[in-house]
Amino acid sequence: MEKIRTRYAPSPTGRMHVGNLRSALYEFLIAKHAGGDFMLRIEDTDQERFVEGATEIIYRTLEKTGMTYDEGPDKDGGYGPYVQSERMKTGIYMKYAKELIEKGEAYYCFCDKERLASLKTYVSEGDDADEGKTITVYDKHCLGLSKEEVEKNLAEGKPFVIRQNIPNEGTTTFHDELYGDITVENSELDDMILIKSDGYPTYNFANVIDDHTMNITHVVRGNEYLSSSPKYVRLYDAFGWKVPVYIHLPLITDENHHKLSKRSGHASFEDLLEQGFVSEAIVNYVALLGWSPEDNNEIFSLKELIEKFDYRRISKSPAVFDIVKLRWMNGEYLKAMDEDKFYEMAKPYLEKSLPGFSEDKLRKISAMVKSRIEVFPDIESHVDFFRALPDYDIGMYTHKKMKTDAASSLQVLKDVLPLLEAHSEYTNDSLYEMLLGYIGEKGYKNGYVMWPIRTALSGKQMTPAGATEILEILGKEESLARLRDGITRLEKAAT
Ligand code: GLU
Repeated sequence: MEKIRTRYAPSPTGRMHVGNLRSALYEFLIAKHAGGDFMLRIEDTDQERFVEGATEIIYRTLEKTGMTYDEGPDKDGGYGPYVQSERMKTGIYMKYAKELIEKGEAYYCFCDKERLASLKTYVSEGDDADEGKTITVYDKHCLGLSKEEVEKNLAEGKPFVIRQNIPNEGTTTFHDELYGDITVENSELDDMILIKSDGYPTYNFANVIDDHTMNITHVVRGNEYLSSSPKYVRLYDAFGWKVPVYIHLPLITDENHHKLSKRSGHASFEDLLEQGFVSEAIVNYVALLGWSPEDNNEIFSLKELIEKFDYRRISKSPAVFDIVKLRWMNGEYLKAMDEDKFYEMAKPYLEKSLPGFSEDKLRKISAMVKSRIEVFPDIESHVDFFRALPDYDIGMYTHKKMKTDAASSLQVLKDVLPLLEAHSEYTNDSLYEMLLGYIGEKGYKNGYVMWPIRTALSGKQMTPAGATEILEILGKEESLARLRDGITRLEKAAT
C-alpha cells in the first residue's frame, strides 16, 4: 500500500484562522492515523497578499498545537523546496506549464489590461475561493494565435500569462470523499491563469504541480476550493497523473449561521489564545467541527484523536462554531490540568487582578479558582473581592437554607469579632478549628456562622472558597476591617 502523505499548505496572509486550523488538523490526523507523513508547504506565490510575520505565526501555531510536521521548510524530507516562491526559482512551474502548452492544454495569452477590461466580467459569489472578486470570462482570443505570432511576441518580450485551455463542450467529473462524484459543464469553467505575468504560478496551478511532485495522497481543504477542483482534475488528467483523494470540508459558521469571520472575534487560533483558551482545548474543539467519533465522547487529547480519527466520519453539513461549548470544553481542560501548569498560565491574570499579592497567596487563590473558571479572564470576577471589598446589599446576609438574616448575622459577627481579634494564627485550619469551638458552644449549624462571616469578608454571594480560607488570604488586619464594616452596615440598617 502506498504511504499516506498529507500536507498543510497555508498562504502566509495573517493569523491562522479556525478553518485553516481544522484543515491542518485533519491533514495531520489522517497522516498520523495511518502512520504516514504530514508535510508543511508554504504557499506564498500571491505576493500581494503576503503579510510579514505570517510564516512565523504558522510555525508557532503548529508547534503550540502539537501538529509536528515530518517535512517542511526547516525539515527536509527530499521533496523540497517547501516554499513555493523557492520552488518557482527551480523553474518547475514553467517547465510543466510549457509541457501543457505542448499538449494543447494551455496557451500563452498576451492580452493587455485594456482588452481584458472590455471582456465580460462577473463577481464571484458563494463559497468560492474567489468570492467577491471580479472574474473576467476570457474569450480564448489568444488561443487563435499562430505559433509564429506567439514566437514573435515572446521574442519581443511582450508580457504574457499562461492559461489553461478548457474546451467549451463536454463535462468534467471528479470525486470528493464527502460530496461524491461531481460533474460540471466545461463551458462553466474559465480558462484560468496558470502562470501570472510576474512569472509566479497561481495557487490554482501550483497546488496541482506541488501535490503531485510531492507525492501527496490526500488533500483536505475548505469547500471554497470545490468549484475550482474540476479544473485541477483536468490538469492531473492532462499530465496523466493520479488525482489525490479530495476532502473538501464544510463551511464553519458562527452562532448566527454566518460564515466565521474576523468580525466574529474568535476567528483565529491566536485570538482564542488571547481570550484565555488553552491550545489543547482549541485543538480538541476544532477536531469536532465537522467530525465526530463513533462513541459520544467529546474530550480527546491529540494522541487519542490520532487513534480515533477516521476521515470517513467527516460530515458535510456546515459546522457551527459554538463559543459556549468551547468555553465548557476549555473549563474541562483546566480542571484536569496539573496544578503547577495551571498556576503558570493563570499567573498573569492573577497578578493583574491582585497586584501586590504574595506568590504564596496567589498560588492558594489559583487552586481555589482552578475548577471554577472556563477561561483565564474569568479569574477576575472570582477574585476581585480579595483586592477590595465591593459595595454590597445587606440582603445578602439573609439565607433561607442557612437560616440566617440581618439580625442573626449581626449577632454572630459581634460574637466572632473579639475571637478573631484575639486569634493570631491566620491559617485556614487553625481558624476553622477556633470557629468550630464557638459553633459547638452555641449549638449552631456551621452555615449559620460561616455565611455571615463569608458575606462580610467578600460582599459576594459566590466565592471560590469558604470563610476561613478567605480569612487566611486576607490576613488578620484586612479581615477584621471587613468584619467591622459588616457590623456597621448591619447596625445602620437596624436603626
Ligand atoms: N494556500 C491555500 C490556502 O491557504 C491552501 C489551499 C489548499 O490546501 O490547497 O487557502
